[in-house]
Amino acid sequence: MMYLSEITRFLDELLHVHAIPDAAVNGLQVGRDQEITKIALAVDACMDSFREAKKQGAQLLITHHGVSYGNSLSTIRSLNYERLQFLLKHSIAVYTAHLPLDAHPDVGNNIQLFKALKLQKPRQFGYASGVPIGLIGSVKSQTQEEFIGSVNGLLDVQAKLWDFGPEHIKNVAVVSGRGSAFLREAIESGADTYVTGELTHDDYHIAKDGGINVILAGHHATETLGLKALQPLIEQTFKIPTVFLNLDSGL
Ligand SMILES: [Zn+2]
Repeated sequence: MMYLSEITRFLDELLHVHAIPDAAVNGLQVGRDQEITKIALAVDACMDSFREAKKQGAQLLITHHGVSYGNSLSTIRSLNYERLQFLLKHSIAVYTAHLPLDAHPDVGNNIQLFKALKLQKPRQFGYASGVPIGLIGSVKSQTQEEFIGSVNGLLDVQAKLWDFGPEHIKNVAVVSGRGSAFLREAIESGADTYVTGELTHDDYHIAKDGGINVILAGHHATETLGLKALQPLIEQTFKIPTVFLNLDSGL
């Protein structure tokens, strides 16, 4: 029999969840010790993933975005009430790893993306709360079209290109999720292409004036890789079946 406390201890240590400052609450957000026979993983903690976890018979849901950011659970009403009521009623625990899962050197979203795109010579950049989140590296020179083809194939998306940089791609910066905070730093670091999940209207002109290609591959899609890398580790360690819930927002 495997208990929640054993699994959370393993994840806490592996992901250094208490060592990385973050607006999100990392670690076990909801739950008490109980037997776990199945684990679901999803990018988002939301009613869709809760219902799907229940349907799949999971007692633990591991997410990248949790239900608790800063003081977001300071009142338990409205959507907080609905979400917590469902989780408590069905005894589903939620464990979240936000920045620790972006930044992790092995199972992190960014290193996974970096390696899968065959980038080389990783350099850290993009500091959030003093911790580097993003990676920059070089790639065998290829056209924008060839490179986007790799991104689309890897993530099963139709990535959008902001064509503001060179036709031939050589230096690529990678930041999973919303990459707004590190766009300027990517430009200043000499990257010719920025692969991220999503950016904002304001970022459009920063990218254009900075002369950098931007490949928008989806917030959800770019943040599936860390969880998928975690899955086999959990299965091997605890001999518990896991399921990845692919609930793409399309954003
Ligand atoms: Zn995110």
